[in-house]
Amino acid sequence: MRASRRIVIVGASLAGLHAARTLRDEGFDGKLTLVGDEPYPPYDRPPLSKRVLLGGGEAPDTTLPFTDVPDVVHRFGAPAVRLDPVARTVTLADGWELPWDGLVIATGARARPFPATRTFPRPVCTLRGRDDARALGASLLPGRHVLVIGAGFLGGEIAAAARARGCRVTLVEAAEQPLARAVGAVAGAFVAGLHREAGVDLRTGTTVTELRAGPGAGEGFRITLSDGTTSVADTVVAALGAVPADEWLTDSGLDVTGPGGGVRCDPFLRALRPDGTVVSGVTAAGDVARVPHPLADGAPVLIGHWTNAIEQAAVAAHNLLHPGEPRPYDAVPSFWADLYGVRLRSVGLPAGAETIRLVENDPVARHLEVTHHRAGRLVGALTAGRAARLAAHRRELEHRRSAPVPAVVGRG
Ligand SMILES: Cc1cc2nc3c(=O)[nH]c(=O)nc-3n(C[C@H](O)[C@H](O)[C@H](O)COP(=O)(O)OP(=O)(O)OC[C@H]3O[C@@H](n4cnc5c(N)ncnc54)[C@H](O)[C@@H]3O)c2cc1C
Repeated sequence: MRASRRIVIVGASLAGLHAARTLRDEGFDGKLTLVGDEPYPPYDRPPLSKRVLLGGGEAPDTTLPFTDVPDVVHRFGAPAVRLDPVARTVTLADGWELPWDGLVIATGARARPFPATRTFPRPVCTLRGRDDARALGASLLPGRHVLVIGAGFLGGEIAAAARARGCRVTLVEAAEQPLARAVGAVAGAFVAGLHREAGVDLRTGTTVTELRAGPGAGEGFRITLSDGTTSVADTVVAALGAVPADEWLTDSGLDVTGPGGGVRCDPFLRALRPDGTVVSGVTAAGDVARVPHPLADGAPVLIGHWTNAIEQAAVAAHNLLHPGEPRPYDAVPSFWADLYGVRLRSVGLPAGAETIRLVENDPVARHLEVTHHRAGRLVGALTAGRAARLAAHRRELEHRRSAPVPAVVGRG
């Protein structure tokens, strides 16, 4: 889009910043505006559940380098509330209208809230942003009891940080194993072992049935679990996954109605209408984008990983500038998480697997390697303490040349 003189990026975080950088790197010299609803310049989120919690909510400052992207108009603390793709405007909450010739949607995701109940109508604490991390980190004092609801990657990291801070931790998970839906039961059992070895009271197949404030004013929470037990916690944090921040697009005519929401895109990250036609001049990237992926046989997926936000931002920006020669987004997704000094790494789309092959499971050495397959083809892999082995899996995924798997362990 050499003719494009005004590009607006909505969402001033990882994907938004990288889209801005790509646009300038690829020679866009028109007006570039980066809009974000948070009052901060772009910052990095992975350290929030790691170093920031471990530091009791204090620094390190996780601000991303953003002043090196030249000539960007920043509008921080300015939520976008409406998109009109026909008039080509974005409206901000203060009523300001931003005209654009090209638009990148990079509004990411928000923490899925714990549903309000009659006994506890206030929102339960979650972890998505910098302020959340500071508040949660400050509450992780030695000897305190912390209840974490949800033992996914984020809940697991919160539990690990709380243990490292000397808290007593109860980790409640509705499924029979942590992470079973994401990476399978074998890896889930491995992670469950890490939690229990660290002294976390992990309750699987269990939900919170009642949450009340108390016992006295300002004195934590009274909790009842579905296994019938009751306890008092000083801090309760819900880690129930993330939902795409697409609420401001409801009346835009873009398709945000797929399962789990998000902006449905074509393989070139161009936003689509519900009838599948492309919305001219609009691309999306990062946690808000629902993108067809070769490893999902072309089905649209929300990926939600750090690396993917950067890779998609580069593609979305490039395709806005060069609509005549668009590049598809087909990078192999990758993810990492840190639990008790063990780094879990995954490549591909393990959640789409039909079968899982166990290559190594050594809980004593804390080594794990599992591969994920669908229709006899590799679709993902996960390791703990065996990062070097992922390179081969990544290469295989990149070349889409998976062979049928000889020995297969069922998904359970
Ligand atoms: C605590 C935590 C730990 C993580 N750890 C890992 C990890 O170890 N490994 C990994 O691979 N990934 C991890 N992730 C995920 C990774 O951080 C995300 O994939 C990444 O941040 C996505 O970037 P994004 O720019 O698409 O979205 P986001 O980072 O969510 O940024 C979107 C921005 O848009 C803003 N916004 C939303 N709506 C509007 C609006 N209407 N108007 C203006 N602005 C708006 C948001 O407030 C936000 O600032 C973690 C995430 C969290 C929260």
